[in-house]
Amino acid sequence: MGHGSGGRRSAAENAGQASLRASNLRLIVTLVYAADEPISRADLSVASGLTRSTVSRLTEDLLQAGFLRELGPARITGPGRPAVPLAPATGTLVATGAEIAPAHVAVRSVDLSGRVLAEHWHDTDLMGSDAEVVLGDLGVSLRTVHARLPDGVRPLGTALALPGLVEQGSGRLLQAPNLGWRDVVPARLVRGLGPGPRLGAGDVVHVGNEADLAATAVAQTRPGHPSALRDMIYLSGEVGIGAAVVREGAVLAGRHGWAGEVGHLTVDVSGPLCRCGSSGCLEQYAGRPAILRAAGLPEHTTPAELARLADTDHPGARQALHRAGGALGIALAGVINLLDVPTVVLGGDLGLLARHLIPAAEPELVRRVLSARWVPPRMVVAHPGSALTGDVPTGGATSRVPVALAPPVEAAELSLAATGAAYHLLGRALDRPDQQLPLP
Ligand SMILES: [Zn+2]
Repeated sequence: MGHGSGGRRSAAENAGQASLRASNLRLIVTLVYAADEPISRADLSVASGLTRSTVSRLTEDLLQAGFLRELGPARITGPGRPAVPLAPATGTLVATGAEIAPAHVAVRSVDLSGRVLAEHWHDTDLMGSDAEVVLGDLGVSLRTVHARLPDGVRPLGTALALPGLVEQGSGRLLQAPNLGWRDVVPARLVRGLGPGPRLGAGDVVHVGNEADLAATAVAQTRPGHPSALRDMIYLSGEVGIGAAVVREGAVLAGRHGWAGEVGHLTVDVSGPLCRCGSSGCLEQYAGRPAILRAAGLPEHTTPAELARLADTDHPGARQALHRAGGALGIALAGVINLLDVPTVVLGGDLGLLARHLIPAAEPELVRRVLSARWVPPRMVVAHPGSALTGDVPTGGATSRVPVALAPPVEAAELSLAATGAAYHLLGRALDRPDQQLPLP
C-alpha cells in the first residue's frame, strides 16, 4: 500500500477488504471440504465464480494456514499444465472431543480430514457421580491423549458432550439427571488440573448436549463433508434417551438449546414413575435400566450381552425389547407427525439392539404416522460397529418401514458424541478460516 496512485485506503475500505477476503476464504474451504473428490484450482474458479488469480492467492494462504493440502498432479490428458488437486489437510489443526456418559468416558482427537490421531475409552459407572471428581479425572485422560498427538499439530481445544441440558454461551450444565449433576461449569473443573503438555489443547472451549453432538457426526462423513443423512431424528440411547432433530445438516437446538428430550415423552400416562417427576416416560420402557429390569437381568448386563440373549430366545430379554420397541414406535410417531422428518437414526444402545426393537416399533409407526402411506418412516442404524445388515427382520412381508444401515461414519465406531464434539470445533475453524491466518 502506501502512496501509490490509488492513495491511502480508508478504514472502512480496509474493513470491507478484510471481510471480503474472509468470505472468499470460507467459500474456497467450503468447496474443497464438501467435494467428494480432490478439486483443482481451475474447478474452484468455476465453482466459486472467482478469478483464477484470486483462487490461487486464497489457496496459497489456506495451504500455509494448514487448511488444505496439495495432492500429486493429476495425469495430463490434454494440453496445458497438469492440475494439482486440493484436499482437506491432515495433521495440522486438531480438535478433541470428549464424552462423559453414565456408563463410559470417551476422548478422541481428530484432524481436519476426519482422521483420529489419538483416543481413549473406558467403561465406568457414573450414575449419581461427583462432577468434580469425574471432570478432574477427565483432565488426566485429556492430557494422556494429547501427549500422544504427533508433533507440529495445532490444537483448537476440547469440546465436551454431556447427557443433559447445557446453557448455550456460558457452557454451564444445568442438569444431567442420569449423572446426578446439577449446575456445573465443566470448563473450570477440567482446567483445575492445570494446562496439559500442550497448552490449550485440554481447555474445554465448548460444552454441548450429547445427542446434538452425536447427530453432528452422523450428518457428516468427515468435517465439512455432508453425509447422505441430512434430515433426521437422531436417537441416542444408553441409560437415558436423548434425541436431536437435524434439518439440512444442522441440529435444531430450540429456543434455549434444549430441544430433543424424547426420553421424557409420555408413552403411557398410567406408566411407571420417572426420575424427572412425570410418569410413563419413554425412558421407563426403552432406557437401559428399564429394559434390564423388565428382562429380569442384572443391571450391569451390557447391550451386546442383552442382544445375544435375545438372539438365543431368552424370553425375558425378548419381551423386554419388544415392549421397548413398541414404546419407541409410539413416541417416534408423535415426533414424526409433529416435524415431518421421517428418517430415524438409532444410535448408542438403540443401534446395537435395533434388530430386536424395530419389529415392535414398526407397526406402531405404520399405524400412527399419518403420512406413512405416502412416505414410510425409515429407521436407520448409526452404529457401524454393530453386526446389522440392510435386511434386518422387520416382522414379515407386510413390512412397510424400510430399514437401512447408515453410510459408514468414518472413525465413529468408538463414540459418535466425542467424534461430533471434535467435528463441532473443526467446523467452527472451517467457518472462519481467516481467524487462523495472519492478517493480510
Ligand atoms: Zn421422565
